[in-house]
Amino acid sequence: MQLFLTYDYELFFGEPTGTVEKCIIEPTNLLREISKKHQVFYTFFVDVGYLKQLQLLKDQYPKVAEEYQLVKTQIDQLVAEGHDCQLHIHPHWEDCSHDGEKWNMITDRYKLDDFSDEDIERIVLEYAQILTQWTGKAVHTYRAGGWCLQPFERVQKAFSKIGIKYDTTVFPGGKFTAGNYYYDFTNCPNKSKWQFNSDLCKAEENGEFWEYPISNYNYSPLFFWRLFILGRLKPKQHKPIGDGYPMASPGLRKKMLTKGMNLSAAVDGYFVTKLGAVVRKNQRKGFEETVILGHPKACTHFALRKLDQFIAKHKNNHQFLTFSDLVKE
Ligand SMILES: [Zn+2]
Repeated sequence: MQLFLTYDYELFFGEPTGTVEKCIIEPTNLLREISKKHQVFYTFFVDVGYLKQLQLLKDQYPKVAEEYQLVKTQIDQLVAEGHDCQLHIHPHWEDCSHDGEKWNMITDRYKLDDFSDEDIERIVLEYAQILTQWTGKAVHTYRAGGWCLQPFERVQKAFSKIGIKYDTTVFPGGKFTAGNYYYDFTNCPNKSKWQFNSDLCKAEENGEFWEYPISNYNYSPLFFWRLFILGRLKPKQHKPIGDGYPMASPGLRKKMLTKGMNLSAAVDGYFVTKLGAVVRKNQRKGFEETVILGHPKACTHFALRKLDQFIAKHKNNHQFLTFSDLVKE
């Protein structure tokens, strides 16, 4: 089995957004230690709208300049160490500002589909170019911010232009259309990868792009009760290192606690306890790939310890890969 550990490298988008030290730098450094120990590498999906704003505002605000320097240094380290830094777009950064103290998030235009055709093309091209400037590497893989990449036909042309070959946004069965979100993956192929053209969820032979879906898992209500209660009872182990709050997801918490929910397989917090089950489920289906989602901001000390154990247990019988490894093949 090929295992892809992927991390969305970003702040929170609620109020407050959290600090760069706690949401990005500190947890990513802990992840780097685990990587060095096992010689296993991650794919980071870097929130390039954030990089753009750091670049734009660093000369205006000393606080942004400090933040810029921290992120710049860390991305240089990640690239030098062999991690893969690929494209993640949260286009609402186009509408955000800094007041000298903190970021002011405006998330009304949260997904690319909320923008005009001209803006979509400009954003995708510009962000890919910014990322290449930061990493010195080619951009070939994409993950949408907040899983929102539908309808794909609106961004297809821009993806072709920048040479995107892989996308890893879909998680089978996922659907959420409240608040600023829109995604619907209820009708996607039952496969661990497929080719597609204008519709993310429609496999087409010889399609221009490859979808490597994030694995999914049906988490029970009991799982969410445990997750919320452990965060309260044992915050040192179970509270995320990130110090911000997410954007609102109306109705989500209630649904989790009463009905449970099909969500991405994740290495975040308590979700890490289901990784073994996710891999076994995929093996039973005959899948050759498992993509796992994570966020430095949502790392807990518990999750880091479990990740370390998970890698130690599986590094000899599975292959841990980044998306750049696929390009090399
Ligand atoms: Zn994101």
